[in-house]
Amino acid sequence: MREVVILSGKGGTGKTTLTAALAHLAGGKAVLADLDVDAANLHLVLHPRVHDQEDFVSGHVARVETSRCSACGLCAQVCRFGAVRMGEGGTAIVDPRRCEGCKTCVALCPEGAMRFDPRFCGVWMRSHTRFGPMVHARLEPGGENSGRLVSVVKQQARLWAAQLGRELILADGAPGIGCPVIASLSQAHWAVLVTEPSPSGLHDLRRVAAVCARFRVPMAVVLNKWDLAPDTAAAVEAVCAEQGWTFLGRLPHDTAVPWAMAQGMAVTETDGPWAQAVRAMWPLLLQKMDSQGGI
Ligand code: SF4
Ligand code: SF4
Repeated sequence: MREVVILSGKGGTGKTTLTAALAHLAGGKAVLADLDVDAANLHLVLHPRVHDQEDFVSGHVARVETSRCSACGLCAQVCRFGAVRMGEGGTAIVDPRRCEGCKTCVALCPEGAMRFDPRFCGVWMRSHTRFGPMVHARLEPGGENSGRLVSVVKQQARLWAAQLGRELILADGAPGIGCPVIASLSQAHWAVLVTEPSPSGLHDLRRVAAVCARFRVPMAVVLNKWDLAPDTAAAVEAVCAEQGWTFLGRLPHDTAVPWAMAQGMAVTETDGPWAQAVRAMWPLLLQKMDSQGGI
């Protein structure tokens, strides 16, 4: 089984657009995963029909058992995060959005009135789409531990792929280089890095490429909207050559891209120059994956 993660050094480079297009070209043979759990949007194109879902619980949150609270106010004094206030009725009230789950109030409450409940952070789902099975998630607003949720989604995608006998997992990774990206890369076989021809695009490409190198995940670069700045595009390609990074290809700026996204379609379901370039790139990606050395 091969796991390909589509990444970008920052959001807005076309990572999800490319993932949806590759999912289309895979012809239903891949298991899809949306690892961008903080801002999941692959579902906007793939319109999943949820098959089953489970709660994602991570960490803890304090809660007052009002019948035991003597309104001494100690918890409000010791909470360093301003998560506890004394209510008009006299008992303490915890704001779950502010609670960091440090357990100080639980340990110090003289009445044993502070509960320490598991924190509900969101759900993960297994769904069916017109391009194949998909595992994805919805994180609660302000929900934490998104790196752990990424790991859960990846694990479930692998399990489902094994059950279905699928050889390929195509994953839309998180942007940036933080914890969710590291979780996205964990045990991945290849990374496809989407960048754009701008100084910030090149800077962010270097950063995410360094993360791939650190975790020894082979990587290849796709340059999106190259024709908006041909000189900078040439500079990005030169850096790829200099660094020994595989360069998969250029994708042009194409008004069919926002049009297709607005229709909830993969761009390769249309026939513009962007779609044609991705179609031409797809066999090269498969060839690289099949080669012994990876991308
Ligand atoms: S420390 Fe315990 S008893 Fe005192 S106000 Fe807080 S919850 Fe109530
Ligand atoms: S667990 Fe920590 S952060 Fe949460 S309310 Fe208690 S003291 Fe504050």
